[in-house]
Amino acid sequence: MKIAPDSTKPVCRRCGTCCRKSGPALHTQDLALFEGPGALALSMIVTLRAGELCFDQPKGRLLPLQTEVLKLRGGGANADRVSGGTGWACALLTQPGNECALYDRRPVECRVLSCQDTEAIAAMYEVDRLTRADLLPKGHGLLAVMAEHDALVPPARIAPLAAALRAGGQDALDAQDELTRMALTDRAFRAGLTERANIEPEYHEFFLGRDAGALFAAAGLSLRPDARTGLRVQADPLSAPVATPLPTNLEF
Ligand code: SF4
Repeated sequence: MKIAPDSTKPVCRRCGTCCRKSGPALHTQDLALFEGPGALALSMIVTLRAGELCFDQPKGRLLPLQTEVLKLRGGGANADRVSGGTGWACALLTQPGNECALYDRRPVECRVLSCQDTEAIAAMYEVDRLTRADLLPKGHGLLAVMAEHDALVPPARIAPLAAALRAGGQDALDAQDELTRMALTDRAFRAGLTERANIEPEYHEFFLGRDAGALFAAAGLSLRPDARTGLRVQADPLSAPVATPLPTNLEF
């Protein structure tokens, strides 16, 4: 018996519009994607840490993340061009062809997302998000390293320190010192991953999230080499805080 398609249900036309904007955030239902043939590598994941300022799609404004988000990285052929310059086009979107390289096993957000009706994805947006700890064996030595990095380079400090830096006076000097310490600490942790744990740089954004330079740039700050301290943080007069990256591809 043939079953006629249900014309009342939204149908994905596989146009790639949402994939070009950004890849999905991952949820615990996506754990199976890291196993078996064609498994996702940890180098495909960018961690957005708790406290990072991100654009909350359902609420329509910039908000600090309450919990960390693991997100499929942007990239692939022509990612910058097809994403309109953000570089966040999903790395699994093939170009040319505009196809998902993982369509039959695509992440749960991609299966739930319908551009004709976003109610279902809005309902699961913050539910059961996958974390770094979900992908590492219990008691793994790097869990303690990641926790220490989160404590010493806390994303939630960046926006208030950037505001203090812009305000001037003694508070600005103190903010600059704290931001510089954070940047140097972040750099030392990444060097340690490579030198002591033999972890290649393409995995660093999974273990430690985006580096200080990227987080500072999102807050309108820039990092410059400095002969005395190694690095110097300054407010970039041409740059305002920006709402990147999007935690999911839920935007129409
Ligand atoms: S995983 Fe596939 S369906 Fe999901 S955003 Fe990437 S290319 Fe699109």
